[in-house]
Parts: sequence; C-alpha cells; structure tokens
Amino acid sequence: MSFATAINCLDGRVQLPVNGFLQDRFGAAYIDAVTEAGPVGILAREPDSEVARSIYRRVEISLNVHHSTGRAIVAHSDCAGNPIADKAQRAELAAVVNLLKGRYPGTAVIGLWVGEDWSAAEIVNS
Ligand SMILES: [Zn+2]
Repeated sequence: MSFATAINCLDGRVQLPVNGFLQDRFGAAYIDAVTEAGPVGILAREPDSEVARSIYRRVEISLNVHHSTGRAIVAHSDCAGNPIADKAQRAELAAVVNLLKGRYPGTAVIGLWVGEDWSAAEIVNS
C-alpha cells in the first residue's frame, strides 16, 4: 500500500481533483486527507495555533504510520474558509510549502492550486 497526504480544504469541489492529481504525482494508491476550511490561511497566519497543531498531528500520523511518500498543501479559488484574493492565497501557498519543508525535512512537499476550472495544478515544488 502506498500513501500520500493532502492538507486540503474541506470544500467538496476540490477533493476529487486533488486526490487524482496526487495519486498520479506520487504514485500513491491512497490519499490521506487532512481537511480544514482554508488550511493555507491557517498555516500561513497562525502556524502555532491549536488548529495548526491539530493539522501537524494528523500529517504526522500519515507520515509515520502510513509512511506517506509526499505531502501537498492545497488552496483554491472561491474558498469560503480563506476569502482573500487568489494571488494572496498563492503567496500563502508558497510560504506554507516552506514551513512544511522545515517541519518535515527530506520529504517531498508541494503546493497545489485549484482554479476556477476545478483542476489541480502544482505551482510550488520543494
Ligand atoms: Zn476552501
């Protein structure tokens, strides 16, 4: 069994595109889902908050127990949980990829953007 980890928005519109993208990108059969409303905003602006620590705990279960081969942080257009401009969200995405690279050194971390066409694109790469 092979796993990858998505730190994804809870938005139902992004689940299938993100899972399909990550299965291909990391050759993973299964995608462990760590979901919050607008996780990129939480991790960019409140990286030491209780909800951020909850995200890290869940990522670490995926990493340490499932031996997840890669991690993605996801942001998307029209996000109810992070209602800021797309350009600002993409800047947060780059900052959060760096944050996660620091927390999980030596592992693959990518940033995915899901735009208005609801397809996932890798826009930040570690
Ligand atoms: Zn969202």
